[in-house]
Amino acid sequence: CTIDKGEVISPTCDVTFDEINDINHKIRKDLVNLVHTDFFKYFRLHLYKQCPFWNQNNGFCVSRSCAVDVVEDWDSLPEYFQPEVLGGLQENETISDEGSVTEDCKFLDDLCANDKKRMIEPDIEYCDVNDLHGEGSVLVDLTANPERFTGYGGQEASQIWSSIYGENCFSKGETGQSLAKDAFYRLVSGLHASIATHLSNDHLNTETGKWGPDLDLFMARVGNFPDRVSNMYFNYAVVSKALWKIKPYLDHLRFCDSYDPSVKATIMNILSQLNSKVFNEDLIFEGELSSKLKDDFRIRFKNVTKIMDCVHCDRCRMWGKVQTTGYATSLKILFELDESDENSKQHVVDKLTKYELIALFNTFDRLSKSIESVNGFEKMYNVRLEGG
Ligand code: FAD
Repeated sequence: CTIDKGEVISPTCDVTFDEINDINHKIRKDLVNLVHTDFFKYFRLHLYKQCPFWNQNNGFCVSRSCAVDVVEDWDSLPEYFQPEVLGGLQENETISDEGSVTEDCKFLDDLCANDKKRMIEPDIEYCDVNDLHGEGSVLVDLTANPERFTGYGGQEASQIWSSIYGENCFSKGETGQSLAKDAFYRLVSGLHASIATHLSNDHLNTETGKWGPDLDLFMARVGNFPDRVSNMYFNYAVVSKALWKIKPYLDHLRFCDSYDPSVKATIMNILSQLNSKVFNEDLIFEGELSSKLKDDFRIRFKNVTKIMDCVHCDRCRMWGKVQTTGYATSLKILFELDESDENSKQHVVDKLTKYELIALFNTFDRLSKSIESVNGFEKMYNVRLEGG
């Protein structure tokens, strides 16, 4: 890989590869702990939604490794995940006014039970959060279904990727002309590279039956393409800037007593290692004469999140949904939150749903794990070069 690790990642990121590695090293342990807490490990989604783009929802999963274990044993879940608590998400109540929410539990209420309050004007959404719940949605323990090699591939997977690149990214000729169009391509390519890194790092050796890293596979999919590696770092910068941006608000949110207070401390440990220079979102649409490009960007990204319903492998679809939702949430925070405007704060931060936050932190964890794996593969590669 011919990346100069002392160089900045892109014109919009005033941070080097080395600096990201450093940040990641500092937060990795806390992030792993965080995504293993009850609050962050359960994600709700509609696993069997009809693919909206082509009539080919006949995917099946032949191996257990691509299936998803859905939570059915409700009794084993903590109290705040019992149906009556979660019920707030599904019930059709009218919006409760601010006064009815007790201060003590405001955060958990906001996250768990304000389905109506977060009916956000459609023009600031980069994904359809209503897609995640409703009839037919299931609660999944993400930690019980790790993102890894599933055997999914061939014609079906390549149809999804080519649809994303071909129909939903801006055309090749357009990237390079505008930072926004470039950023869009990098987001998708970074997601694709991150998935390839996970499946290479946690790969099933069919001869030995053992799971473990496969250096050759990683090199063929990611390592031999410096731009793909760089795009993962770019995505890390994007998501970490979004987290940095909501830090002042998280600090004021209060958890219910029934919820583990150490979670908030862990979040703050992570956020305190991030900084604002990793990504300058103000440059992305700078100089654009109208908001048309931004709208176009948003609509195209929303389509990418919907294409996930066309993925045939359950587990891949689930992680695809989590991560595209995480990116969509990041983009909303970056491009729609104006910190100097109280109105925009209320529209964006106060209405973030529990599942958007879960997706956001899990997406950051996925990227963090990818960066860690890239460094691991680099070591393996050097050992091999030295004939070790
Ligand atoms: P693909 O990865 O399918 O790539 C197709 C083409 O895209 C390549 O030939 C190349 O020209 C181009 N390309 C590849 N990578 C990049 C990049 N980073 N940037 C730009 N262009 C690129 N498989 C699993 O084992 N586990 C999973 O969890 C998993 N999750 C998935 C989630 C989604 C949403 C999708 C669509 C697929 C998922 N897959 C998963 C399948 C996996 O992504 C590959 O499609 C599969 O392994 C087949 O790989 P391939 O070598 O044929 O090329």
